[in-house]
Amino acid sequence: MDTISKTDPILENPVEIQKKLIETISKEPKAARIMHICGTHERTISKFGIRSLLPPEIEVLSGPGCPVCVTPDNDIDTAIILAKKGLTVVTFGDMLRVPGTEESLFDARAEGADVRMVYSIDDAVKIANENPEKKIVFLAIGFETTIPTTAAAILRGLPSNFYIFTSLKLTPPAIDLLIQDINVDAFIAPGHVAVITGTAPFSSFEKMGYPVVVAGFESYDILLAVAMLQKQLKEGAAKIENAYPRAVKAEGNKIALKMMDDVFDVSDSDWRGLGTIPNSGFVLKEKYKDHNAAILFYDLYKDELTRLEEVRKKKKKNCICATILTGKATPEKCPMFKKACTPSTPVGPCMVSDEGMCHSWYKYNRD
Ligand code: SF4
Repeated sequence: MDTISKTDPILENPVEIQKKLIETISKEPKAARIMHICGTHERTISKFGIRSLLPPEIEVLSGPGCPVCVTPDNDIDTAIILAKKGLTVVTFGDMLRVPGTEESLFDARAEGADVRMVYSIDDAVKIANENPEKKIVFLAIGFETTIPTTAAAILRGLPSNFYIFTSLKLTPPAIDLLIQDINVDAFIAPGHVAVITGTAPFSSFEKMGYPVVVAGFESYDILLAVAMLQKQLKEGAAKIENAYPRAVKAEGNKIALKMMDDVFDVSDSDWRGLGTIPNSGFVLKEKYKDHNAAILFYDLYKDELTRLEEVRKKKKKNCICATILTGKATPEKCPMFKKACTPSTPVGPCMVSDEGMCHSWYKYNRD
């Protein structure tokens, strides 16, 4: 089934189906460490207490799937520098609160910099059209889920005072790197990424001998994925399966993929927690160079960025967000969790975003 349909049995009686799924999973469970790589999955898992519904033999870990969390310090610092140099920086709300090396975009705004929150690139373009005397820099973050909307706006045409600083991430190369060094038995793949990319990008899991199931974002979607992974693990299988056929087609969304291809070139990219990953990001194609903030404003930010990199090297790293993003620790292992670091006083990016693991654990995992 390719589209959302009321005839999908899982939609007709989700409570009963969840009970049955839990019964199936709990029947002679095979011990397994299952990793998801999606902030929205973490939110569903934490919100509905799915870990507590599973038998203790099954552990569900969180990987690098929150776009705010994987955005590196350098990109946040660059946006802050540009704002303090007199440009108008616009980006999504969560990004304003992520601490850079010395401060956040919110702090810069409190000091008088022109930093604005938007819900989409279209809002940012509107600001540029309404303020032709200003230079508007859009800090673009996200995965394949949101990149097509950025590409579509660019293809519609941008005002001459509109610039984009890209911190956009391409998921498959990060997956390839992640599975080289990880103690995990199976993966849940993000359904919204697969809506765009199709299932092929997750073939690395299969090739490396890991079962993988593409899942949606309701509690029953996650339970169905766990049940399907358990079946594969018990059978000794390692294949890609799609537990979200009401939204995901094997070939993905060809129109969205073409728009991305028309606008962006693939480039190396820095990921918080994973370092620089070859071919894991996007930069604007040469034909859009008049809107490329990273190139046009390089002289404005390069010296200060170098200074901040030195500051960062000397700083004691108390936040273990990078370790959490690779599934090697959970939030309660961080001494600042629920103490110095809370959603209203975030020390690291994993506590800022609604999709960050620390944020989800703080909000939903009450002791
Ligand atoms: S609790 Fe805060 S400081 Fe600790 S890892 Fe999470 S975001 Fe970083």
